[in-house]
Amino acid sequence: KLEPIRSIKKAPVEEFYQSGHRTCQGCLSALPMRLMAKAAGPRTIVLGTTGCMYVANTTYMTTPWVVPWMHTQLGAAGSAAVGTSAGLKALMRKGKMKDEPINVIAFCGDGGGADMGLSAISAALTDIEYNLLIFLYDNESYANTDIQTSGQTPWGAVTTFSPPGKKFRIMQRRWKKNVPGMLAAGHPDTRYVASGTPAIPVDMMDKVRAALRAGGPTYIHVLDPCPKGWHYDPEHSNELGKLAIETGIYPLYEVKDGVLNFTGITKQIAEGRRRRKPVREYLEKQGRFAHFKNQDYAYFQKKVDEMWEQWIIPCVVAFSYG
Ligand code: SF4
Ligand code: MG
Repeated sequence: KLEPIRSIKKAPVEEFYQSGHRTCQGCLSALPMRLMAKAAGPRTIVLGTTGCMYVANTTYMTTPWVVPWMHTQLGAAGSAAVGTSAGLKALMRKGKMKDEPINVIAFCGDGGGADMGLSAISAALTDIEYNLLIFLYDNESYANTDIQTSGQTPWGAVTTFSPPGKKFRIMQRRWKKNVPGMLAAGHPDTRYVASGTPAIPVDMMDKVRAALRAGGPTYIHVLDPCPKGWHYDPEHSNELGKLAIETGIYPLYEVKDGVLNFTGITKQIAEGRRRRKPVREYLEKQGRFAHFKNQDYAYFQKKVDEMWEQWIIPCVVAFSYG
């Protein structure tokens, strides 16, 4: 049974994602793979769409995966999860394999999941017959193909598609798409939706277990600092992940059977027990925002304040009634 993980001492010591990958130093997209596999345990099948966590993890004749792993097409996390879960169910029903709980986890990056594969994820999250977890690792760009803008790239960030120019200093002018909020709000049959970050590992592992206990369909979104794409020294990965939460830019929450709960630092902020740090503390540590002037920091802060003060469920869904 997958018990809750409320402290690091409760986390299993066994690793199912080990050495043998070739991600960049300080990559916080490799860490959630390790934590997710650790929390899920050995009776797990992992499906991975194209992205950094496919390419860097399957160099010829090497792989960090200890559990069965399969590559699937860039936009296919949702369909691969449904297909695998349905296949297992049919084999068990026909007595061709032992009837036992097997976790099916399909991961995707923000490009593969939040942009290209969103329709298949949406379909998977309406399919109540199958137990599955879609796990989206969000490094806020198409990192694998050299940092192009995605729907998850924050306002103002430099990518290879949005370099600051003489005429326009800010080339990325869209506010980040709120994928977990959108999926939670629009898929009432989804058993569990959560946001997390590997920078707060206990919270993240606990959410993986909560999703797997809920069965399916379920979705977890994790924010992963990426030293290559965000332009900072790899030693600051963890600090940046925490700052994203402390500044209120990225809230931690879970929606279980339709009920929303903030977790960790976000809960303290939402309950007024903690103040949000200024967003500048997070932004100025990253080279992708090095062109920011005071008015850009002010705009970013205003938008985050708006999420907290004007949205009916802060940072999650901007509904208004009547
Ligand atoms: Fe990790 Fe970013 Fe490097 Fe990809 S580009 S392996 S996400 S640090
Ligand atoms: Mg990405």
